[in-house]
Amino acid sequence: MTTLQHIIDGKNVTGTSETLFDIYDPSTGKTTKKIKGASANDVQKAVKIANEKFTSWSQVTPSKRAQIMFNYRDLIIKNTDELAKLISQEHGKTFADAKGEVGRGLEIVEYCTAINNHLKSDFTADVSTGIDSHNVRQPLGVCAGIVPFNFPAMVPMWMYPVAISCGNTFVLKLSEKVPSCGLRLTELMQEAGLPAGVLNTIVGDKEAVDEILTNPLVRAVSFVGSTPVGEYIYQEGSRHNKRVQALCGAKNHMIVMPDADLEQSTDAIIGAAYGSAGERCMAISVVVAVGDETADQLIESLAPKIKSLNIGAYDEPNVEMGPVISKESQEKILSYIESGIDDGAELKVDGRSATEKDGFFIGGCLFDKVTPNMSIYTDEIFGPVLSIVRVSTYDEALALVNDHEYGNGTAIFTRDGDTARHFTSNVKVGMVGVNIPIPVPVAMHSFGGWKRSLFGGSSIHGMEGVRFYTQLKTVTSRWPSGIRKGAQFHFKSGKDV
Ligand code: NAD
Repeated sequence: MTTLQHIIDGKNVTGTSETLFDIYDPSTGKTTKKIKGASANDVQKAVKIANEKFTSWSQVTPSKRAQIMFNYRDLIIKNTDELAKLISQEHGKTFADAKGEVGRGLEIVEYCTAINNHLKSDFTADVSTGIDSHNVRQPLGVCAGIVPFNFPAMVPMWMYPVAISCGNTFVLKLSEKVPSCGLRLTELMQEAGLPAGVLNTIVGDKEAVDEILTNPLVRAVSFVGSTPVGEYIYQEGSRHNKRVQALCGAKNHMIVMPDADLEQSTDAIIGAAYGSAGERCMAISVVVAVGDETADQLIESLAPKIKSLNIGAYDEPNVEMGPVISKESQEKILSYIESGIDDGAELKVDGRSATEKDGFFIGGCLFDKVTPNMSIYTDEIFGPVLSIVRVSTYDEALALVNDHEYGNGTAIFTRDGDTARHFTSNVKVGMVGVNIPIPVPVAMHSFGGWKRSLFGGSSIHGMEGVRFYTQLKTVTSRWPSGIRKGAQFHFKSGKDV
């Protein structure tokens, strides 16, 4: 059995918390690795070294930092298969999906290779006579990231490449369920030329997180995970005067209008609802069918495809959907299916027989006639369970999306430009797709939801990420050759002189 270690100051370190985490292969249910968690004391050490390295790292020019990102890019490409395998073995998603995830993380690294361009600032000559003004964005110091299990590579890469290329040092707290890929990515960062101690990677639970949230040397915290934990992290981190962005849970609706292309909509729903076993914060978990005819046709085309999903381990041939992450998660999803039946929704496809396999499998499930008062509609299930809600009009569909507590992603499938335009303008959700089921913004844009899907107001990566990990300084300067007027005691505008 492999025992993993944390990486602090470039060295492998054994954790000192009381907790020993088991890491599973979800397709067999067997423990494959272990790691002793990071204690508060271990986190203190990681933060201390990150703080010591901050001054020297922040003085490395952005072009030199970018060069390390170029090296890192090459190493990720060279090692993609190994990274993807580590993801699939611990998370359970298919190998192709894991490779796709590494690719999306890689795009953030590529964005960071142009960090000197992203940090370029404004300069205004002659804001007043002989006086110039310019802005600089400077790094904050030690930043920290707390990440979920469902994207072991991509979500960490939303954070540390941006923070580090902006000149910060970083403490990354990986999910205790899927740590191997994040640890390997940290090793590759060092191989790329990053000085030891600039990126420190630990694995732990609430004990480690609470130290991050209260340690006075940590200046900013990025969190991605569930809403209850994210809300706690936002409140606790803010209370300790940190900049916090917390990207949280979701219930993503896809509206299907009567004029939508049925085949395109069906394929989109299958991939977006059942890909990665529904364990994506941008998964479609509710289809709002406008008109009974639309709902009936969709169910007719979806049901056979859901029943024939090829479910298995990541390395089985032609596998389309893997297991969910844990026994606990499998049981939680099964209890939602029970409650959907009890509440009167119609279970059109029942995937529960897949639980007979070893591992944490659940087959694709499809509920029809779901109503907004049911918990399968209100709650994030985070599994391969799709609800169909029937409405009569587009206005009813829009109101449903807007009334839901979450606002991460949404999509509309239609051929009508007016309806699509009305939807994109009026929907209260952060990421919107038009005939695109999972509208995850690419690296140069920013990722983030609305309502209870995001706390702290700041989206992640792209220019929002650069702004989050830097602070603005504005310099106003005059040189001795400028106008001399003696001491001035009143406030002036640029027009005064
Ligand atoms: P989680 O909230 O259980 O865990 C996230 C992180 O917080 C982990 O590192 C975990 O160790 C830590 N944590 C867990 N409980 C804690 C506690 N009580 N105190 C302090 N820290 C704690 O989430 P998860 O199950 O790992 O991931 C799934 C969730 O993440 C889903 O809700 C999903 O929607 C969300 N997610 C959101 C986005 C987004 O961008 N909005 C992206 C990916 C995942």
